[in-house]
Amino acid sequence: RTILRKLTELPGLPENTDLLPNNADPDSDAGVYHKRYLKEIRYLGQGNFGTVTLYLYDPANDGTGEYVAVKALKQGNDSGVESWIREIKILKSLKHINIVKYKGCCTEMGGQVVQLIMEYLPQGSLRDYLPTHKLSMAQCLLFVQQICQGMNYLHSQRYIHRDLAARNVLVENDKLVKIGDFGLTKYIPDGQNYYRVREDGDSPVFWYAIECLKEGKYSFSSDVWSFGVTLYEILTRCDPRQSPPKKFDEMMDSTQEGITLVALIKLLEAHTRLPCPKDSPHEVTLLMQQCWSADPAQRPSFQGLIDRFESIHR
Ligand code: ADP
Ligand code: MG
Repeated sequence: RTILRKLTELPGLPENTDLLPNNADPDSDAGVYHKRYLKEIRYLGQGNFGTVTLYLYDPANDGTGEYVAVKALKQGNDSGVESWIREIKILKSLKHINIVKYKGCCTEMGGQVVQLIMEYLPQGSLRDYLPTHKLSMAQCLLFVQQICQGMNYLHSQRYIHRDLAARNVLVENDKLVKIGDFGLTKYIPDGQNYYRVREDGDSPVFWYAIECLKEGKYSFSSDVWSFGVTLYEILTRCDPRQSPPKKFDEMMDSTQEGITLVALIKLLEAHTRLPCPKDSPHEVTLLMQQCWSADPAQRPSFQGLIDRFESIHR
């Protein structure tokens, strides 16, 4: 027994967190990625909250490793640590072909810094992809259908996304897209159907439903509104000259300068909506407009949208 104790007390083995078994990690079944095997390849993108970088994870150190996308909380965003941990946990629990796949975590400085490791989607976001690839309407509608499938699954798990937009949809190839960025995702307990926020500094207002802007009330139906704006982006192939912020800005009363929110609410209350993209099929335009109904109850569900798009496809 003393020999055993002596052996386990041998210096130089523990301390190094890299050698700790997986259960030392709070998420014990998570893939643990060791910082020292991550080789930085290039910057991929950033949004309001995170910076995403491409790495090669190569423990054998012979170039046989796997490419992974690593998301880190933006520096100087200490207030967001809690919601950052929540984002990681939510993504970890989601398993669907149209949702970006969680691969693991990488912790540094005794767990004070956590990075999210996810699958790498080589074509980047829809906003980067669409302007440079000539997609047919049928291909666009395939992407649209897949976004609905991913969102339908998310809602079935009682999560609302709250940031659905082309910049947050990632492209695997010309036949597959996945929803990414769960930074604003919220869980809606059974029996409740909305989430209310008090202040929301960085909200993507031009994608938000009217009740989100007026009352800070987010629901499954407000995700459907944002889907309508995302559909608009896809139909305009993410042309920056027709982007939702640009279009709304053109329509807004310019004398109201500086109070975008007030002007936007006024516009939406007067039933003004984004224009119909030029090659949008009539039935698709109707669906898009339904997503923007002032009354949330009048908007379709993602299951309803899936059924409707299926019949348009044929
Ligand atoms: P934020 O929460 O800051 O908005 P995102 O998760 O939306 O961060 O990522 C920012 C950008 O990084 C995306 O718009 C996309 O261009 C790129 N990106 C994110 N995840 C991936 C990924 N898994 N593969 C490739 N590019 C990605
Ligand atoms: Mg984003």
